Amino acid sequence: MPNQSNQDKPALTVDEARSAILNLIEPTTNTETVSLCEAPGRIAATDIHAQHDIPMFRNSAMDGYAIRHKDAIAGAKFRIIGSSLAGHPYTDPLAEGEAVKITTGAQTPVNADAIVIQELTELNGDFFTTSATIKHNRYIRNPGDDISKGQPLLTANSRINAADTGLLAAQGIDRVTVFSKPVVGVFSTGDELCQASESIQDGQIFESNCTTIRSLLKLAGIESVDLGICRDDPDDIEKLMQSATGYDFILSSGGVSVGVADFVKETLERNGELLFWKVAMKPGKPMVTGKLSSGAFYFGLPGNPVSSMVTCVQFVIPALQSFSGSEYQPPPTFQAKCLVELKKEVGRFEFQRGRAALSENGEMQVSTTGLQDSHVLSSMSQANCFICLDQFADGAAKGDKVSIVLFDSYHGLR
Ligand code: AMP
Ligand code: MG
Repeated sequence: MPNQSNQDKPALTVDEARSAILNLIEPTTNTETVSLCEAPGRIAATDIHAQHDIPMFRNSAMDGYAIRHKDAIAGAKFRIIGSSLAGHPYTDPLAEGEAVKITTGAQTPVNADAIVIQELTELNGDFFTTSATIKHNRYIRNPGDDISKGQPLLTANSRINAADTGLLAAQGIDRVTVFSKPVVGVFSTGDELCQASESIQDGQIFESNCTTIRSLLKLAGIESVDLGICRDDPDDIEKLMQSATGYDFILSSGGVSVGVADFVKETLERNGELLFWKVAMKPGKPMVTGKLSSGAFYFGLPGNPVSSMVTCVQFVIPALQSFSGSEYQPPPTFQAKCLVELKKEVGRFEFQRGRAALSENGEMQVSTTGLQDSHVLSSMSQANCFICLDQFADGAAKGDKVSIVLFDSYHGLR
């Protein structure tokens, strides 16, 4: 890892910082086998191919009668000779003019090649007539319509979604091998911080970053351990850095700026390696990234509550997902009409917080959630998107098109 402790080095762009981080992540080779209910959000460790055609057998798409379509001339009369219910098949061949009552998903008689839906029949005892012309294969589901035997169902390194678990279940598979999740520890730094269980003193604040960071990780499917609070004391931070073994990632917040009480960067330099600490973004300019001597990847996130959340979403979660074998996909960006003037200084990429909605005529529009300072956590809580303002932009006028990324695009912010 290059030693870039020089404070005068220019800040990296958001994309440069993310790429540098992702380049350093060595994906785990550890795997575990989990039940399908535990699988959504996990990353598949192997390819899985279909063992069976789906549907497995010819069956009806509707409730009605299975017939031979060539018998269905206008006004044709059919005799009902049996029934095929889902799970109780009737598969014997039909003779001319014969029909079998059938329910959705039930196996069709061997030579039936169409279903007459109940609504098109007039029933009279064991007979019905239909005036409609019935097309060959109408409402028949054929084997392999959905999945053919041998077809890939799941590809290694893909994120497993709910439908994937259904595809596997439909093959009679109940477990899947996935890459292990990272083991993550999170702590806060600051003399002013107090836990909810403690009585708060004058000048103190309740700690909240550990909670938001761990919540973001949880929504992204990543568990974490709360390592508590370190005081603004290099020895205290060093003790934690040295004792936190067995973790793949250690995250902290606070103490990464250039103030007299900011010791994270120098303590990391003494206890591992520092990669960089400045990103040209707002919120979240100071950020410490590196590796501890234990081998754990280290992120020292900024202390301001919005900054720590934004840097966690932009850098930490992609890194954690990359560790578990998932390739980073940039979230989709939309253009929205800005309903207010947005102020910004040239020089840093800004993630302002907005609320986006479609107007009555279908136009995507966005407004701001108000005060955008990095301590204003309510600006995150009320937002449903980031308004992404380019590093070299000086804001946006009312009516301008701006780029937005919906929070739904991020695993942690949904
Ligand atoms: P720092 O980066 O340590 O200078 O902190 C910047 C701001 O974030 C200060 O106002 C801190 O009080 C605040 N802050 C730092 N850590 C936390 C935390 N864990 N929870 C809430 N606020 C914090
Ligand atoms: Mg601090």
